[in-house]
Formats: sequence, structure tokens, C-alpha cells
Amino acid sequence: MIYDYDGKPRNLKKLVLEEALAYAKKYLKLSDASYVLIEFTKDCDTFGYAHNEGDNDYHIEINKNHTVPLMLGTLFHELTHIRQYETGRLIMTPNDDGAVWEGLYVEAEYDDQPWEEEAYDLETKMLRNFKRNFKKKYNYAL
Ligand SMILES: [Zn+2]
Repeated sequence: MIYDYDGKPRNLKKLVLEEALAYAKKYLKLSDASYVLIEFTKDCDTFGYAHNEGDNDYHIEINKNHTVPLMLGTLFHELTHIRQYETGRLIMTPNDDGAVWEGLYVEAEYDDQPWEEEAYDLETKMLRNFKRNFKKKYNYAL
């Protein structure tokens, strides 16, 4: 994963963000061919979004009106979607409730979508691990 970010809020330190991205890249095995633009924005009606722009180009939006742990959790969640796109396990369709998941068309409410279940599950696990690793390395609790 090659990345760039824009609009980083002051409360999220560069070191923390870059450690989080390095951790996620390794944990999720994100492809070196992918380019991900991470945009921190106040104009986001939810925690975040992950868009597949095609040609290994991805765009993540993160709502920056939240605490650092919430933003990091959102980052891990959205990067999980990037990995789902990279592997072809998730293919979005024009229908917001439906997508092709592991080769099958699935239509479900947001909370029951398997790609969301996986992203929420990993978001929690990754945030817990990352906070523990960070504390160990820098003796600083996030
Ligand atoms: Zn999601």
C-alpha cells in the first residue's frame, strides 16, 4: 500500500497515524500495488467511507470530529474494505444494500452485510492490538 493523507487533525499525531498505517499494511497484507488516499474531513455523515476508484486506486474518508481511538478504529475498518476490494472478495454494485461477496450477490441490511461484519470484527481486534503495541513501544497510552 502506497498512501497519502490530507486534512490530518491536530489531535492525531503523525507518528501515531504512520505507525497505524504500517501496522494495518502488515496485518491486512495490503498490496504494494495499491494507492490509498486518506482524507480526514468534517463533512462526513458517518465514521468513514472506503471507495474503490478502480486501477488499484482507493479513497478513504475519515470523519475527524471523533476521538483518536475512534478515528484509528475507523481507519482499520476502512482498510479492511480495501483489502476486501484488492482480493476481489468484495465487489460493490450500484445498489447500496447489495454487493458481490465471495462470488455471490448478497443483499442485506447494513448490519448484516458480511463484509461489514468482518470490518467491524477486525476494527476491534486491530485497535486493541495496535494500542497494546504502541504502549509497549512508546510507553504512551492512546
Ligand atoms: Zn464498513
